[in-house]
Amino acid sequence: MVVVYSGLMKIAIIGGGAAGMMATACAACGIKRAEVSPEIFLIEKNTALGQKVLISGGGRCNVTTGFSDLRLIADRYPRGGKFLLSSLHDFPPDAVKKWFEDHGVPLKTEADLRVFPKSDSGKDVLAAFEHVFKENSTQVLLGYDVAQVNKVGRSFQIHFKNHPPLTVDKVILTTGGQAYRHTGSTGDGYTFAESLGHTVTKLAPSLNSFITQEKWPHTLAGVSLPMVTLKVRKRSLRPTEKKKFEYSGPILFTHRGLTGPAVFALSSFIAFETYDPQHPLTLTVDLFPNLPHAELERELEKEMKQNPKKLFRNTLNLPKSLALELCVQFQIDSEKTNNELSKKEFTKIVEKLKNLPFTLIGRAAGDEFVTAGGVELSEIDPKTLESKLCPGLYFAGEILNIDGFTGGYNLQAAWCTGRRAGLSASTRPSGTKS
Ligand SMILES: Cc1cc2nc3c(=O)[nH]c(=O)nc-3n(C[C@H](O)[C@H](O)[C@H](O)COP(=O)(O)OP(=O)(O)OC[C@H]3O[C@@H](n4cnc5c(N)ncnc54)[C@H](O)[C@@H]3O)c2cc1C
Repeated sequence: MVVVYSGLMKIAIIGGGAAGMMATACAACGIKRAEVSPEIFLIEKNTALGQKVLISGGGRCNVTTGFSDLRLIADRYPRGGKFLLSSLHDFPPDAVKKWFEDHGVPLKTEADLRVFPKSDSGKDVLAAFEHVFKENSTQVLLGYDVAQVNKVGRSFQIHFKNHPPLTVDKVILTTGGQAYRHTGSTGDGYTFAESLGHTVTKLAPSLNSFITQEKWPHTLAGVSLPMVTLKVRKRSLRPTEKKKFEYSGPILFTHRGLTGPAVFALSSFIAFETYDPQHPLTLTVDLFPNLPHAELERELEKEMKQNPKKLFRNTLNLPKSLALELCVQFQIDSEKTNNELSKKEFTKIVEKLKNLPFTLIGRAAGDEFVTAGGVELSEIDPKTLESKLCPGLYFAGEILNIDGFTGGYNLQAAWCTGRRAGLSASTRPSGTKS
């Protein structure tokens, strides 16, 4: 049995995460401005909306970034930044902040320019959408698990695993990526997109911690460094094609290796690189990125001359446990005072401080925050987010081949593409050129 609902145009948004909720809210607002009044269905397989929004930012939900330069923001997406510019322009971080504040979620910007609800609770972000849906009498279909989406003439037929099919005029696919699968984002939308004629690029985990072969970093779990530079040489079949990636920022030692904002950013640059015990990657860490090698030597020598009886490891201006571990690793007697350290030992340790080597042998399975890769962007109009191949089909959020660094960039992408897709679908006839 196919259910044909009465009324005018029908729009189904498949996936009730960040992008789907914003698409639905904006479609509902677009309708108010349009002559026609479509029916909107927000379809979610879970029994509640926004599971990932609730766990984002450790439950605090880092909704966006405090940066406002759009070019700079676009650069923080290793994939898709250029495509995103049009949606970002229409709904930049400042407008996102205003939207949430206007919808009863006061925000705060922290020192590192990450923006959170003042309440430090993602529940308030979700509540803002639930309020909009209630006010607009949006049909939120919870527990509706989509199995298949077919194009039938100018309409779409949505088949569920557990309910009768639904026929609509337009579909917005917002099923997300496949990270943190237990939240419901299991990559189903990639299959729907492919069945409607789209290409899905290679997929890979991104924004993950590194597992190191070296065991000594594990003993420093919890020790953090506010500013280091990480460098990794990407492998390739031809040695001449070797490409170096680097990123500066904070890191944290874990019981399995390394994590922190700089690690996450670097992980997204090498998202498509294989690194496992059979194919390890070498990472080097510059512990003093603001001091060139010669300057670091000069500074340390000066300090050592001024404090000849001080323990060398205490002269290093590093967390005590790390300084001690470095001495152990590089066979320097950790009880040596500055005047006892040999020139050879000094040269060796400075070299290590500037190029501390780690062997990366993997990512912790399932701990990545986002999926790199997704629906091929050249097949989508960046101004409307409508498919160029299948009129009436729209995309928003992580299902697209767009992923950003940590710091609010992925939710920002979900909000702005969601808004653009919702407005386009509700106010423009299908297949119109932007
Ligand atoms: C632990 C964690 C912390 C994060 N923290 C931040 C942060 O603080 N700031 C930030 O910017 N980003 C953060 N991210 C990334 C960000 O949360 C995501 O990029 C973003 O939520 C993606 O939104 P989306 O709407 O595209 O997809 P999702 O949020 O993944 O939503 C997709 C929805 O589609 C539904 N769905 C899937 N298949 C079907 C189907 N067949 N039928 C019906 N429904 C279906 C799913 O159940 C899900 O609800 C974090 C991610 C993780 C995992």
